[in-house]
Amino acid sequence: MSKLAIYGGEKLKKTPFPQWPMYSERELTLVEEVIRSRKWWRIAGSKADELDREFARLHQADWALSVTTGTHAIELALAVLEIGAGDEVLIPSFTFMSTATAVLYCNAKPVPVDVDPETFCMDPAVLEQAITPATKAIIPVHMAGHSCDMDAICKIAAKHNLLIIEDASHAHGAEWKGKRVGCFGDIATFSFQNGKLATAGEGGAVMSRRPELKERAFLIHSVGRPTGDRLYSHIHLGSNYRMTELQAAVLLAQLERLEDQNAQREKNAAILDRLLGDTDGIKPQGKDTRVTLNTHYMYMFYYDAAKFGGMDRITFVDAMIAEGVPAFVAYAEIHKTEVFKENRFRTHFEERVDWNAYATPNAEKIAAEVIWLPHHLLLGTEEDMKDIARVIKKIKAANNKKKTK
Ligand SMILES: *Cc1c(COP(=O)(O)O)cnc(C)c1O
Repeated sequence: MSKLAIYGGEKLKKTPFPQWPMYSERELTLVEEVIRSRKWWRIAGSKADELDREFARLHQADWALSVTTGTHAIELALAVLEIGAGDEVLIPSFTFMSTATAVLYCNAKPVPVDVDPETFCMDPAVLEQAITPATKAIIPVHMAGHSCDMDAICKIAAKHNLLIIEDASHAHGAEWKGKRVGCFGDIATFSFQNGKLATAGEGGAVMSRRPELKERAFLIHSVGRPTGDRLYSHIHLGSNYRMTELQAAVLLAQLERLEDQNAQREKNAAILDRLLGDTDGIKPQGKDTRVTLNTHYMYMFYYDAAKFGGMDRITFVDAMIAEGVPAFVAYAEIHKTEVFKENRFRTHFEERVDWNAYATPNAEKIAAEVIWLPHHLLLGTEEDMKDIARVIKKIKAANNKKKTK
């Protein structure tokens, strides 16, 4: 068996994966157009308006509004829905930190809810138990592009009169039962950060099927000024979450590729599932059969170190990187991070929360055992998928050989 690259052996992956972000002449043309126009902010230009329309059309939503970042999109969504001090918001305990911090930024309390051990999405059964008289909203996260169980979540929300903000940062164009995500709840949020499925380096969007929320969203995102205002008539409290025309130009070009790339990722994820099917110790994120389009922002899998001769997870990740396959460990369990454990924020709820009281064992296990591969690997060829499987099998064989020697 060949020596691992991490220990000085030859690197297995010889040909490069597709790089991310991707661009073509299209991005350059649209950005140049904006630069030459001298209309660099959306109030003067038309690119962000165009992006809003295009993004809403893509998801069959009533409207969308481009913003600075995905984090700001969640803050804005909460502000539009008037969630604040005294309110509790249910979030999955396994997600990127912004889902939780956005709630703190609007002075409400994020309440962590456990996720399903197969899909890594909010578990509706646990969700219902976490509801209190203070609960105002739920933020389901479509983890890695796999839609949450929106049937169950919408039913619970309706029963308890709760608002839903879908955090679709991983799920541009994803579907639940043939319908695009982002149109099940009250508002959905997206991220266009550098690694996301469409990007301008930074960026985000809020989107909704509720027309009556559009104007308030625009006002809050533009310091409270109505469209066309020349008299400094600030008619609502707001911040500045406006996307630049340069960002919007890049994103218009990025979105032209999104649907084809989503299809390519689905195809390759299925190939990789098949190739890894017989590898004891690797168990990919499961799929609810009601998911009709999974965008695969991350290819996630449980890693069982015991089946790999005891090689710990981070060393395994380093070994994959050394063989030429980029890989990462999963997010931390949200309320076990230092910011939460030490209550490093001013609160409008009880002064010091014992976050340990929130037991979310599935999230704990995922945070401790899961590894993910970035989505651009899934934009490669079938041979690229075979190389990923070969790298994992090479590491496994080398470790198990060492052990039996
Ligand atoms: C990326 C991400 C965000 C935040 O988006 P930014 O654009 O990086 O601010 C929020 N939620 C989830 C689940 C994310 O992955």
